[in-house]
Amino acid sequence: MKLNIIDTFASELPADKEVNNTIRQVENACYSYVTPTKTSSPQLLHVSNEMVEALGINKEDIDSKEFLDIVTGNAVFPNTSPYAMCYGGHQFGQWAGQLGDGRAINLFEVEHDHKNWAVQLKGAGLTPYSRHADGLAVLRSSIREYLCSEAMYHLGIPTTRALSLSLSGDKVLRDVMYDGNSKYEPGAIVSRVAPSFIRFGNFEILAAQQDHATLKQLADYTITHFYPELDINSETIYVDFFREVSKRNLEMVIHWQRVGFVHGVMNTDNMSILGLTIDYGPYGWLEGYDFGWTPNTTDRVNKRYRYGTQGEIVGWNLFKLANALFPLIGEAEGLQDALNEYRDSYDTAYYTMMSEKLGLFEGEHKTLIDELNKVLHKTETDMTIFFRQLSDFDPHETKNWLSVIRPAFYDIDEVAEGIYDLWESWFTAYRSKLIDQNMDQKERAEKMNGINPKYVLRNYMAQLAIDDAEKGNYELIAELFEVLKHPYDHQKDKEKWYAKRPDWARNKVGCSM
Ligand code: AMP
Ligand code: MG
Ligand code: MG
Repeated sequence: MKLNIIDTFASELPADKEVNNTIRQVENACYSYVTPTKTSSPQLLHVSNEMVEALGINKEDIDSKEFLDIVTGNAVFPNTSPYAMCYGGHQFGQWAGQLGDGRAINLFEVEHDHKNWAVQLKGAGLTPYSRHADGLAVLRSSIREYLCSEAMYHLGIPTTRALSLSLSGDKVLRDVMYDGNSKYEPGAIVSRVAPSFIRFGNFEILAAQQDHATLKQLADYTITHFYPELDINSETIYVDFFREVSKRNLEMVIHWQRVGFVHGVMNTDNMSILGLTIDYGPYGWLEGYDFGWTPNTTDRVNKRYRYGTQGEIVGWNLFKLANALFPLIGEAEGLQDALNEYRDSYDTAYYTMMSEKLGLFEGEHKTLIDELNKVLHKTETDMTIFFRQLSDFDPHETKNWLSVIRPAFYDIDEVAEGIYDLWESWFTAYRSKLIDQNMDQKERAEKMNGINPKYVLRNYMAQLAIDDAEKGNYELIAELFEVLKHPYDHQKDKEKWYAKRPDWARNKVGCSM
């Protein structure tokens, strides 16, 4: 197999040099050399052909033993040195100290088609950062990461990608949330890909250790490789950098709100310095439109990471990143201004995005959106279906609005009983805005359908693929992978995936570990 290896991270930043997987505290380094753990009988379950192409891998090579061995950690690609990154983080609002890649191992960086990609394995065994855990991943969480990261990409959302999903052949012991017992589950490994996996936490750990020299090296590395549009010699470079990181993360979280993606664990160690969606753990998708919903069953009391607060949390995380960068700058004013800009632009960006979901491409619609958010919370209404159906609403036709959005209601009787009048008056306001805008109905519908996806990875869909896979049937993984490649298109024969969550799946969510 041929790969164009470049390894900028591992060659330009200081290492904790010895190849040594033992769990420990690491200082004066951005990463530690490690060896992936060999697995007993690895088996490839799915490969992303697009990522194969993006990395410049020969199609024929994916059937080789060499490919399988590399994406499951059983062989190290010649002349490369796998490593685990050192990072810290604020978890649920508290500084957690050193975290690091506890079960992720970076294999190498590849350059292809003028793009650089870092490839890493998730679930390939212990690293110095594994703390009290085993460095492994189970099949169900790996399927969830594999399917969702590619689905997000095709929704047009900045994200880490996935190259392959494999079984390790080993059994992994896990506590099962719903009954409190432990059980053995199939182990799995996802190989995932991104321009870089650097997180806010990589900066935070160095600031916490007061290792300002390495902190500066990491910042300079990140800027020169991933923010080449910034002038590294400028006096304000680190504030400029922070402002750009804020902008990229703003863009990311607005996309999340647009499609109803709830990350579930927005700790600062899960925030990419490139503004990519990273760490697909207990994430979920809004079914009933509910600002208070979180998929994270360990966060059901405070609901810190609920849908409605994701924008605010990005702001909080940026504040922690600003603190970490402060030693490089020495004064707070520029950072504070950039944080304020984030908060101001969030509102603007949010209302613009929501207006577009409604097919309103000019003017200001805050009141209409606020009213919609209120009425959508009155009864359980499916977010994806509601917005998708809306493109069928023609303000010039007498067609009743209810027939357009009826498929989105989980219980239509509740609408008839109490909130019919609220909807009626909302649609009256909406209709008049659409008439004012005077856009061709077909043109508007097409634009809206490029903004409001038809197919998202509903929690129950991933669960069905998991249930089948645990019985040795991997077809549904492949089917969902294909459906989610075209989330905005009407796909004949795939209507069954454009449906409300079935009743059995209510309140069932996947689990991260
Ligand atoms: P997360 O909540 O997934 O962001 O994980 C927080 C930290 O725990 C990170 O440092 C992970 O690498 C680490 N971690 C999570 N699961 C495992 C595991 N099974 N083995 C070792 N480390 C883990
Ligand atoms: Mg994480
Ligand atoms: Mg995780």
